[in-house]
Amino acid sequence: MELILKNGRIVTASDTYKADIGIRNGKIVTIAQEIPCLEKSTVIDAKNNYIFPGIIDAHVHCQLPMAGTISSDDFINATKAGACGGVTTIIDFSTQMPGKSLVDSILQRKEEARGKVCIDYSLHAGITDWGLAQNEIDRAFQEGVSSFKMFMTYRQRGLMSDDAQIYHALEETKKRGGIITVHAESTPLLDFLVKRYHEQKEQYGAYAHVLSRPDMIEVDAIERAVRLAELSKGRLYVVHTSTGRGAMAIREARFRGVQVYCETCPQYLLLDESVFQRQDGHLYASCPQVKSKKNQEELWHLIQTGDIHVIATDHCTFTKEQKDLWKGDFTCIPFGLPGIETMLSTTYTKAVHSGLISPSRMVALLSTNPAKIFGLYPQKGTIAIGSDADLVVFDPHKKSVLDYKNLQTNCNWSPYQGMEITGSTAITISKGKILAMDGKFIGEAGQGDFVFRTACQTI
Ligand SMILES: [Zn+2]
Repeated sequence: MELILKNGRIVTASDTYKADIGIRNGKIVTIAQEIPCLEKSTVIDAKNNYIFPGIIDAHVHCQLPMAGTISSDDFINATKAGACGGVTTIIDFSTQMPGKSLVDSILQRKEEARGKVCIDYSLHAGITDWGLAQNEIDRAFQEGVSSFKMFMTYRQRGLMSDDAQIYHALEETKKRGGIITVHAESTPLLDFLVKRYHEQKEQYGAYAHVLSRPDMIEVDAIERAVRLAELSKGRLYVVHTSTGRGAMAIREARFRGVQVYCETCPQYLLLDESVFQRQDGHLYASCPQVKSKKNQEELWHLIQTGDIHVIATDHCTFTKEQKDLWKGDFTCIPFGLPGIETMLSTTYTKAVHSGLISPSRMVALLSTNPAKIFGLYPQKGTIAIGSDADLVVFDPHKKSVLDYKNLQTNCNWSPYQGMEITGSTAITISKGKILAMDGKFIGEAGQGDFVFRTACQTI
């Protein structure tokens, strides 16, 4: 045994129990009440700490070009930051450009990540030209990609897919055990409202972002996407759900037997749209934007009832200087927020420490469910013999105040600055190697691998 974790409280999606964990060749090989320590083994005493399976952030954008700039966390920095925050696997995105090959976009994104990623990663393949992509789905699976992203908006940028394309893609991917993820915002009305408030941008500033995207923009698109999944019998995953009604539409569809899953993000749970009335409100712009307090409360409620399946970050970091490129025009803000490094500690604080959900439920939301939905389970997403030794030693008692200056994320501000945090990632282990301790990265850059994903499981 190379590494032994002793005396920790193991948390899986179904159980919490005290046991030792033995690790060899990057895998968990023993789980027992008492593992004897041999001379050659490194031993970590995890007394009074939880041991979670490594966090899987299923929605990350490293070095993403947007609004004339490129997001400030590249593959190295975002994955270092993730490791510091207990994340051991990310799923980033490749983007097919209209008229170009889907598989080429996957290969190109792998090339961009090669030698840089510090934790394991995979890719969702963004589809923007279904006419070409439909003939490349088998090859995408051969490249280890079993999930695809389609946009119901961004018509002007050439990224949008229509209902027929999404329907057909749901059919074709389901046959092979895959899944379609959608960015659900309804275009015709959205484009109209963006144009209207763009003409009044001096008057409303960053708040025009809120006015141009009322809840119905998302709710309408989610309801439509769910109907397409129902009709096609495909598998659907709605990314960054920001409205209670949108999440409710997913819940209701599941009662009818539709295979649809709901992701929300920390920003929709921790912030509300009043941030856009601040002097620096433009910093908080993401797409979709954070919604009203009422939506926030509804999302928390649906987390409690088990109707939200995944929390992931949509991590896409821009510095203050980059955000300032907007120059008073809300349509020119680089959209995105940091989150990969703080997701576990903020979720633990607000969801578990507050008594809303159990540690097991949190593990399901942050690790086990995304692993199952995206074909990583049981290699990832659980603590079991034979699984990758991706583990987080988590101190549930440590208190701190969140300060961007203490974070690895390449960003000179934080949406959660000053938040009181209970619980902290003490040690992050990826494939049996210690990558981070007490918020400091101590691993090697480039040691992450691309993870081949297979058929998605139903939850
Ligand atoms: Zn995103």
